[in-house]
Amino acid sequence: MSGQRVNDPVVDWLDADTVQIRQPKASHWEAPFLYLLFGRERALLIDTGATSDEAVFPLRATIDSLIADWLRRRPAVFVRPYPLVVAHSHAHGDHIAGDALLRRRPGTRVVGTSPAEVIGYFGFRSWPDETVTFDLGRRLIDVIGGPGHEPSAVVFFDRQTGILFTGDTVLPAHLYVRDLPQFRATIERLIRFRDDPPAPVRELRGAHIEMSSAPGVHYPPGTVDQPDEAPLPLRPGILDRVLSALDDLRGEPGERVVRRRFIVVLDR
Ligand SMILES: [Zn+2]
Repeated sequence: MSGQRVNDPVVDWLDADTVQIRQPKASHWEAPFLYLLFGRERALLIDTGATSDEAVFPLRATIDSLIADWLRRRPAVFVRPYPLVVAHSHAHGDHIAGDALLRRRPGTRVVGTSPAEVIGYFGFRSWPDETVTFDLGRRLIDVIGGPGHEPSAVVFFDRQTGILFTGDTVLPAHLYVRDLPQFRATIERLIRFRDDPPAPVRELRGAHIEMSSAPGVHYPPGTVDQPDEAPLPLRPGILDRVLSALDDLRGEPGERVVRRRFIVVLDR
């Protein structure tokens, strides 16, 4: 497409109310995925990317223009300014750096990134075992406790699209396990959710792609050019394969278990 600059985000509308945004590799090799979900009363942005410089990755301009586009098609949405909640899959820097670009945006609430702030904002009374709902206005999001990769991690489930937004917990990439008992409990929690869901779980979308389309073959960290990437969406059955890979760990720091679509790494 003409007019696309190298640092422009890659924007995909997954349905009329759901946007997938990828920070371009040219602006940061981590190239995380962000998601913007629109409801009748507010929108939810999941993650803000790896850069806090609007000139490097124009997050504020991108979000403003997507919200304006959506509101133009939804004249019945009457709340003005239309509120935006910015929350996170987890607190690692490549998912929260862009918070600084949105903090002063009108009508915008940026949820804090500590476990206490995440628990408090979403109203968990029994963290991390409880699943809580978050209403965007005729659109319910289930928020599932997800520590193990990082202590404040959550998984968002969107009943409208059937997508589980799994951050850095389950994705076609390295699954860095920082706390094995917690990580395992999170995968078991996601399996229970998948098997008894409030709406059918269609697929998982995480925050990075590091695998190539060849089974078990990954691009090393720092790779900018990934011409043969694996697809981002994973089928719900992948959760069973992640659990079985965790079973194969013997507990040695740095240990790796390679599977077709992901690589489990025991971080510490
Ligand atoms: Zn992470």
